Amino acid sequence: MSRVYNFSAGPAVLPEEVLKEAASEMLDYKGTGMSVMEMSHRSPAFQQIIDDAEADLRELMNIPDNYKVLFLQGGASTQFSAIPMNLKKNGKAAYIVTGQWAKKAAQEAEKYLDVVRVASSEDKTFSYIPDCSDLDIPEDADYVYICENNTIYGTKYKTLPNTKGHILVSDVSSCFLSEPVDVSKYGIIYGGVQKNIGPAGMAIVIIREDLIPEELDSNVPTMLAFKTQADAGSLYNTPPCYTIYMCGKVFKWLKAMGGLEVMKERNEKKAKILYDFLDQSDMFKGTVVPEDRSLMNVPFVTGDEELDAKFVKEAKAAGFENLKGHRTVGGMRASIYNAMPIEGVEALVEFMKKFEEENK
Ligand SMILES: *Cc1c(COP(=O)(O)O)cnc(C)c1O
Repeated sequence: MSRVYNFSAGPAVLPEEVLKEAASEMLDYKGTGMSVMEMSHRSPAFQQIIDDAEADLRELMNIPDNYKVLFLQGGASTQFSAIPMNLKKNGKAAYIVTGQWAKKAAQEAEKYLDVVRVASSEDKTFSYIPDCSDLDIPEDADYVYICENNTIYGTKYKTLPNTKGHILVSDVSSCFLSEPVDVSKYGIIYGGVQKNIGPAGMAIVIIREDLIPEELDSNVPTMLAFKTQADAGSLYNTPPCYTIYMCGKVFKWLKAMGGLEVMKERNEKKAKILYDFLDQSDMFKGTVVPEDRSLMNVPFVTGDEELDAKFVKEAKAAGFENLKGHRTVGGMRASIYNAMPIEGVEALVEFMKKFEEENK
């Protein structure tokens, strides 16, 4: 068996310890004589899995008691519609557009309410985060929406926008659990899990209880109503059982690593190795303004498309997978999520140095 260094933006690298443990439980989960994949979601064994997952996530993120944790199918994109449907009161929401995912979320929300785009960084290919300290947010906006870490462009909000008292909704798909956050600053903080937590197909939605509509709205599909899911403890129908199980294992791994403070330090250290190299390289350049750089997704270019392609090809042959940039940006992107070991980043930088030397 040989494992590569996988720099995929998502689905992405998972901790090897977690994969091994899951493999060891594949045929017989804790004496049940079956795999978690074969198990009833109404069984005591599965109830324990989902309860432990929620408890461990609450501990890791220090989630206040007045927030619900929902494990929901359909990835992050399904929430692009569920959020406006559930939060709509006045029928207006403010969106800050910092990349493709925020753009898609705004487009989807437009089906259900008036969307006011209060800021955007599209003028410079989303290579920065706009100043959000004094935005013109409509008084009657039901919420302010952001995508906190822009997976494709490699930018991250270092300070949250001034919402002027409005509810903040944040998509944290690609920075989930990468550092501590103050959950109480958000109305909803949510993300798809396949970037930094587990297998694809699920979103975790952390929502302040008072934002869950008390009545079921007949215009909102039952499955998309937060009330349905909150009342049923995310077990209204068959949930993505195996994904929940894997996420639970990653939460335990994060706790064993020392929690989110330690992950933050580790992630800063890893990102610094790569950014420091980019800043001194004559060949490779980062594409994001330094002050808004993501710790998780690092896009870079040589400025020459042929050289980019050569780099990606040779990197792959050397065991560095999925370094090709997103089709809308080109160049390269290294996603260095929680589960990417420091050695992976060090080895990548060594490879880049060698490539630069050989292709002067
Ligand atoms: C990947 C991604 C999404 C989409 O996630 P799906 O689970 O595929 O719907 C949304 N937002 C961000 C920030 C992402 O990185």
